[in-house]
Amino acid sequence: MTPHHSALLIFGPPGVGKGTQGKVLGAIPGFMHHSSGDVFRSLDKTSDLGRTFLEYSSKGELVPDQLTIDIWRSDLDHRAAGGLFAPDTDTLILDGIPRNAAQATIMDDHVRVVGLLRLTVHDTQELVDRLRNRAEKENRPDDADEAVIRRRLEIYDDQTRVVLDHYHPSLIHDIDALGSPLEVAQRVLAAVISILD
Ligand code: ADP
Repeated sequence: MTPHHSALLIFGPPGVGKGTQGKVLGAIPGFMHHSSGDVFRSLDKTSDLGRTFLEYSSKGELVPDQLTIDIWRSDLDHRAAGGLFAPDTDTLILDGIPRNAAQATIMDDHVRVVGLLRLTVHDTQELVDRLRNRAEKENRPDDADEAVIRRRLEIYDDQTRVVLDHYHPSLIHDIDALGSPLEVAQRVLAAVISILD
């Protein structure tokens, strides 16, 4: 991957719709969506990496930083090698990474962040309800247990929110994530057009 490759971060708490909007953007030519959670879930569950992921995610905890960054890099390298990602021209849509200050610092060596899309839903109960619905649809054990959901929201408040301080405020674009996926997509697209214009 080219160093300082251009990237947009999709930012916000669990359940806010980062994956849904990331997939929408990733379907547009010139963008590549990377969801750290999806890449972790695609690991073979019986492999060492897959077991390590489950050990942390089943408690709602973050996977250790270096492992997370290594998996991120190797996923991008694989996609580039397979022709699914054009490192010199595509804009990377990062969903779920960086997730703490240390990851943001390490990633400065790899990507140039051109904008952050901060998705917001002020009602925590709405987030919990969305995650419970997702648990049924996607069969995710970390969404099925309310204690694990609460722990993930806590980690977001304690460790992930500070990632915003790592970037210049002019890069941050607030997006109201309440509404249908289509309505939110319209807001996301308007923000991306204004960033890349
Ligand atoms: P959500 O945003 O709903 O919490 P994700 O699919 O993004 O869900 O992540 C699921 C789990 O994967 C997290 O709870 C965590 O254990 C692990 N994970 C994903 N991204 C990271 C990351 N950048 N650093 C550490 N752990 C991560």
